Amino acid sequence: MSLQPRRVGLFGGSFNPPHRAHRALAELALESLALDELRWLPAGQPWQKPPGSLAPAAHREAMVRLAAAGEPRFVVDTRELLRQGPSTTIASVRELEAEAPDASLLLVIGQDQYARLHTWVQWRELLSAVTLAVAARAGQQVRPSPLVGATWHRVRVLDLPALAISATDIRARAARGENTAALAGEAVARYIEQHHLYLHESTPH
Ligand code: ATP
Repeated sequence: MSLQPRRVGLFGGSFNPPHRAHRALAELALESLALDELRWLPAGQPWQKPPGSLAPAAHREAMVRLAAAGEPRFVVDTRELLRQGPSTTIASVRELEAEAPDASLLLVIGQDQYARLHTWVQWRELLSAVTLAVAARAGQQVRPSPLVGATWHRVRVLDLPALAISATDIRARAARGENTAALAGEAVARYIEQHHLYLHESTPH
């Protein structure tokens, strides 16, 4: 039995759909944070987004399984999809702390989320419970919001090469009938096509 506490990465998101930047970030987190496992946590109905704005949970779960396939240290954790009511990261962190009291929890996020972390439910409690691991997003430096910057927290920067990929863009392309494999990856793109997902998305500009 290992004497080191387990290092567990938590990677939450709408994953609507998951894409190549998620996979790249997850792989980078495994290696650069020396994680024993990385848990992909697809959000249920996120409390910050309007109801009905997401593909059904079963489809997002299936796509996350495809995006995470082939890496034994990836775990697809469906607790937020199964939870009644809004899906918050702090609730998952509290459950995981109870399940694995010795584990170190590292929360993997992109810069867009770091910049708005002070809007998350119980964000101060979250900051004292986890180490953040933040990746730059295309064109943005890793930098907290002033409130988060003024609050003690542990943070690691993940040196992800800029990947101009977003789920929003993939949904817009799928709505236009374009192939999304270059952005979403082959397996997720095939799933989107087979299940006719995102055909009625309004196209952002
Ligand atoms: P949407 O376009 O629908 O807002 P998204 O592409 O940002 O979606 P999420 O499921 O919201 O995808 O992202 C989950 C996590 O992955 C978030 O912490 C987000 O910051 C991070 N992330 C997503 N895309 C990238 C990217 N291209 N580079 C770095 N981090 C990313």
